[in-house]
Amino acid sequence: MTIYSSNQQQMAAKIDPTSQRLQWKNWQWQTRHAIKDIATVERLLDIQFSPEKRAKIEETIAKFPFCITPYYLSLIEADDYENDPIFMQAFPSESELIIEECDMSDPLAEDTDSPAACITHRYPDRVLFLVSNVCAMYCRHCTRKRKVGDIDSIPDKAAIREGLDYIARTPAIRDVLLSGGDPLMLPDAYLDWILTELQAIPHVEIIRIGSRVPVVLPYRITNELVGMLKKHHPLYLNTHFNHPREITASSREALRKLADAGIPLGNQTVLLAGVNDCPRIMKRLVQKLVQERVRPYYLYQCDLSEGLAHFRTPVGKGIEIIESLIGHTSGFAVPTYVIDAPGGGGKIPVMPNYIISWSTNKVVLRNYEGVISTYREPDNYKQVYCDRNCEACTLQLKLDDANESKGVGIERLLSDYYDTYMLIPQDNERVDRRNDE
Ligand SMILES: *Cc1c(COP(=O)(O)O)cnc(C)c1O
Repeated sequence: MTIYSSNQQQMAAKIDPTSQRLQWKNWQWQTRHAIKDIATVERLLDIQFSPEKRAKIEETIAKFPFCITPYYLSLIEADDYENDPIFMQAFPSESELIIEECDMSDPLAEDTDSPAACITHRYPDRVLFLVSNVCAMYCRHCTRKRKVGDIDSIPDKAAIREGLDYIARTPAIRDVLLSGGDPLMLPDAYLDWILTELQAIPHVEIIRIGSRVPVVLPYRITNELVGMLKKHHPLYLNTHFNHPREITASSREALRKLADAGIPLGNQTVLLAGVNDCPRIMKRLVQKLVQERVRPYYLYQCDLSEGLAHFRTPVGKGIEIIESLIGHTSGFAVPTYVIDAPGGGGKIPVMPNYIISWSTNKVVLRNYEGVISTYREPDNYKQVYCDRNCEACTLQLKLDDANESKGVGIERLLSDYYDTYMLIPQDNERVDRRNDE
């Protein structure tokens, strides 16, 4: 199977008439020839914007820069480029200048929940570690749009060191998620250094990388890179395919290399109006992904970042998509649909309802086809009062193998051990009156 389409051959010749065709698969050639201006896009796709349109795009670029790899550009079907899912993810739109009242520059409060440089520590046992601010391509739907192309947010080695030190002195962290920017845009040796430092921390049990490189610059997945990554197991990688058209011979080869190196692969899709807000497209995407040994992990509701208003769908569209997947296709091809709560509440899963009703001994459920069924609950389940004295319990948890943990949120309300019986919002008049007394 040839890795170049005729489209790609023509494009390579137009970009760099002196170089040989073989350069196309060289990732450094791809980044060196990344496209950052409108005229080159017009020339390569053989299209023409009107002067008004061009002025609007220029205005958008002044606020949110653009950058596309020749490879990703070559996936655009030029005859209907305005509706093309690749074009819409890669090429600036004047709609990005529409700022809605609900928009925020940092909706997930990542900068607020940051106890050390490059770190967002939101959940008890894991952190987000932003190690790179470089990307192969600037996705128009980037949730960290505020940082794209911003020179000030390039983490230097001292900043990375600070992040590493925070992880080293925080024993609760067992899972470190490298993101950015794109961690795989760092030089092999530098990433190797970060991974080696993390692995040397005894309480770090797993490392994950979030990267869009397999989608937008698959040639970056070289044998050398993969050889380095596989020294750092257990290492997981989540990538970011949004449309079945992104699964090409080249991206399949990148995924094959990663999977063959024993790296469990996941995928995080963002639900985008006009790109993939369709149950049929989504089903095709998840089915193609599992064929490439990639497990769909999350489907994200589009965040409230500035400049993304035109990409947002109602939440109902996501529920409709999940409804069309559960039961209809392989269970492990179904991602969890999440809304990343504005203000830093973290990811909240949202699902269609399957429980129709409930009594003391029966649950009434419906399945994906609409069959309504009854599950009879046990009559003689022996409720065990849990006093957290695991040593005396008949369930055999080995204590030296278990994390210390403090009940949080609803989990705490449900447990026997804590006497907390309500969670009270702090910021209301009733609580203020109580505090005044
Ligand atoms: C998404 C995210 C994580 C990882 O969450 P998982 O549900 O474990 O994948 C960790 N920290 C932050 C700040 C995140 O946004």
